[in-house]
Amino acid sequence: MNKIMTMVLSVMIMITMLYTPVYASDNSTEQTYELSGIIAEDTVLDKTDGKYVITSDVSIKNGSTVTIKPGVTVEGNNFRIRVYGKIDINEANFNNVQLEADNTGSDPCTITMNKSTYIGGRLLYPTGYSAHVYLNLTNNRFYNLEGYSYIWYPADVAYITGNYFENCGALSIGSEEDVYVTNNTFYHMHALSNGDKYIIEDWAQYYSNLYVEKNSFYDDSLVLKLSSDGKMIAKNNFWNTTSSSSISSRISDGNTNLNLKETIEYEPFLTEPDPNSPNIEHLYNDGEITVQPTCLEDGEKTYTCLSCGETKTETIPALGHKWREDYTVDKEPSCTEVGSKSIHCSVCNAIKEGTTVEIPALGHAWSDPIFDFSSDGKTATATRICINNSIHKDTKDTTITSQVTKEPTCEENGETTYTAKVTFDGKEYSDTKKLVDIAAIGHKWGDVSYVWSDDNSKCTATRICQNDNSHKQAETVGTTSETTKATCETAGKTIYTANFGNEVFKTQNKTVKIEAIGHDFSDEWTIDREATCTENGIKSHHCSRCDAKSDVTEILAFGHSYVPGTIKATVTTDGKHFDKCERCGNVINLISIPMASNIGLSDTQYIWDGKVKTPTLYVNDSTGRNISTANYSFTEPSGRNNVGKYTYTISFRGDFSGTINQSFAIYPAKAAIKSIKAGKKSITVTAKKKPAKYGAKYMQIAYKLKGTNKWKYKTTTKNKKVVKKLKAKKYYYVKVRTYKKVGNETYYGAWSKQKRVKVK
Ligand SMILES: [Zn+2]
Ligand SMILES: [Zn+2]
Ligand SMILES: [Zn+2]
Ligand SMILES: [Zn+2]
Ligand SMILES: [Zn+2]
Ligand SMILES: [Zn+2]
Repeated sequence: MNKIMTMVLSVMIMITMLYTPVYASDNSTEQTYELSGIIAEDTVLDKTDGKYVITSDVSIKNGSTVTIKPGVTVEGNNFRIRVYGKIDINEANFNNVQLEADNTGSDPCTITMNKSTYIGGRLLYPTGYSAHVYLNLTNNRFYNLEGYSYIWYPADVAYITGNYFENCGALSIGSEEDVYVTNNTFYHMHALSNGDKYIIEDWAQYYSNLYVEKNSFYDDSLVLKLSSDGKMIAKNNFWNTTSSSSISSRISDGNTNLNLKETIEYEPFLTEPDPNSPNIEHLYNDGEITVQPTCLEDGEKTYTCLSCGETKTETIPALGHKWREDYTVDKEPSCTEVGSKSIHCSVCNAIKEGTTVEIPALGHAWSDPIFDFSSDGKTATATRICINNSIHKDTKDTTITSQVTKEPTCEENGETTYTAKVTFDGKEYSDTKKLVDIAAIGHKWGDVSYVWSDDNSKCTATRICQNDNSHKQAETVGTTSETTKATCETAGKTIYTANFGNEVFKTQNKTVKIEAIGHDFSDEWTIDREATCTENGIKSHHCSRCDAKSDVTEILAFGHSYVPGTIKATVTTDGKHFDKCERCGNVINLISIPMASNIGLSDTQYIWDGKVKTPTLYVNDSTGRNISTANYSFTEPSGRNNVGKYTYTISFRGDFSGTINQSFAIYPAKAAIKSIKAGKKSITVTAKKKPAKYGAKYMQIAYKLKGTNKWKYKTTTKNKKVVKKLKAKKYYYVKVRTYKKVGNETYYGAWSKQKRVKVK
C-alpha cells in the first residue's frame, strides 16, 4: 500500500501542460488542441473551432473536474482518459476514446455523460479494479464500442437511461447498489472476443436489484444473462417479437442454468417500443450515387452505416432537360428542299416541343459550264454542275463553228479548230477544241533509180517527190552474191543481189560472167586400160582439172607365157602334168597321173620253219600299170626267219609323193602231244619237242574235265608239265600249243590234236 500511495503522489505533483493549440499538418484551418498527461485542476473544454486530440493517456486527478461543453469533439487515438476526479460531458463527440473509471482509493469518481455521441474506443473497459464511480449515462449514442462495459460496484445508484447502443459489446454488472438500465435501445450488438454474445449480464446483486425496463432489444440471440449472485428484474421491455417462447429463449437464468437459484421476470413485455426509448439511428456515411439520375429517370443514392454495415437507399429525382439557347439543325436544307432546326437538350439531345423551325431551300449554285465535244468536234454539250451537290447538272447543246487552222502537207495532217457557244442565264460561254483531222496529202514519188558501186558490194535506191524535190527517199544496202565457178570448158558467173528494207524498193540482181579456163593436159602418159595376154590396152594424156583426155593410143597385147607344171599323185589322189601362163594362169596340155593305189606283198602270213621269208613287193597305179622304180624306193626288213612282224617302207619320188608301209608275220609251228601219263589226281603231259623247236618260247597246256566246256591252262618253257589237283577217276581232254611275245604282240602256234586221259 505504501508503494501505491507513493506512485499516486508522484503523479499528483507533476506539472503538466493541459492542452496546447496546434495547427493540423494538412494546412486546414481547423485547429487541434493537444490533450495529454495529468489534469490536476478544474478544466473546461469548450473549443468548437477544432478538435481536442489526445496524444498520450490523460488522467483527471482526484479533486479536479473536467467539464466538456456542447459541440466539442475529442479524438482519442485509443488513448485513455482515466477518471480519478470528475468528468461531466454534455452534447460532445468522442471518437476512439478509452474512458475509464479508475479508483483505488476511498473517494469515488464521477462520470456523467449526456446527449453525446461516442464512436469506437472503450467505455468502462475492465481494468482489474472496481469502477467505484457515480455513474450517470443518459440519452447518449454509442457505436462500435470494443469489448464490454464493466459496471463493478458503483458508488451509488447508477443510471444508464435513454441511450442508443449499436454494434457494441455487453454491459456486465455487479453491484451493491441498485442499477437502472432503462429506456435504452440495443441494436445489432456484437459478440465478445471470446465468442460469447449477450447484451446485459448480472453477476452480483447482494443488497440491491438490477432494473432492466422499457428497453428495446432487436437482437434475437442471448440478451439477458444471470450469473453467480445476480438478481435482475426485466419487465416491460420491447423484444421486437410478441412470442413469449422466443423471448424466453433469449434469457439465461435459473430456468436454464441449474446452478442458479434466481430467475429473471420478463413479463409483461411490450408489443411496441416504449416512446421514451431512442429510435434506431444508424451512423450513415455521406452515401454514394449507385444509379445516376437522367433527364427523365430518377437515380438512386445508397448510404451505408459505418457502424453495422446496413444500407438504405434514397431516390435522386430526375434532373429534367437542360435546353440549349441556340438552335440545332435537324435537317440540312438542300438546293431544292427545305431543312429544319429546333432547340435540343444539351444532355440527352431531346427536342423541345414546339421549337422546330423551317430552313429555306438553298437554290442551286452553278459552276461555269464544262464543254464535252464529240470525238470529231462536230457537236458538243455544255454542262453546269451545282457546287452544293455535284449530282445536280444542267446540260445544253451548243452551236459549233469550225476553221482550218493548219493546212495539210505531204506528211503532216492539217488541223481544224472547232468553237462551241452556249448561253446560260443570258450569259454566253464558249470553248474550243483543236483536232488534227485533215489527212496529209502524201508524197507523189517519181520512179526509183538503182545505182551499183564499182565493186558491186553496195546498191543505192533513190526516189524523189514530185510535189517537193527536197523530199527524197534513198537507201544504200550491202549486197549478197552467189558465184557459179567457171570450168575448163564452161563459163561461170556471179549474181549480186540487193535487198532493201523499204518495201517500195524492189530487190535488184546483177550478173557478172566468168570466162571458161581451158584444159591443162599432163605431159605424162596415163594408162587408161592395161594390155593383157590376149587384148590390147589404151593410154592418153589427162587434164589435171577434169577427166578430159588427149592423144589416146593403143598398147599391144603380150601373148601367153606358158611354164610346165606338175601336181604329184599319192596313194589316194591322182596327180597331173600341164602348161600354165605365168601372167594369166591359162592352162593347156593337161595329162593325168593315176594314184598309186594298188600296192602289196605276195604273202602276209608264214609258219615258222627257221628259214628266211621273202615275199614279192608289187607297186601298181589305179589302172593296174606297174609304177617304175624311177618313181619310188623301198627298204626291206632284216632277219625275216623268226616269229614276229616284218615291214617294208615304200618312199615315192618323181611324179609321186608320200610313203606307205607293207607288212607280213611269222607264227610258231603247230605242236604235238607225245604222251599223257595219268597219276593219282594228276597227269603228266609231254610234248614231242621243246617250245624253241617250234620257233616259240612257251608251251601252253589246256585241259578240260569231260562233260564240261571250260578249259584250264598251264604254261611251261619245257616240253613236259605235271597238272595236279585233278579229280580222280575222271576223264580229261588235253591239248597244247606254243607262243612267243614280240613287242606288244603275242604270236600263237596252232593247237595240237586233243587226247583223252583217265586220272587215277
Ligand atoms: Zn447501423
Ligand atoms: Zn435532356
Ligand atoms: Zn443544287
Ligand atoms: Zn512530198
Ligand atoms: Zn580440163
Ligand atoms: Zn597368158
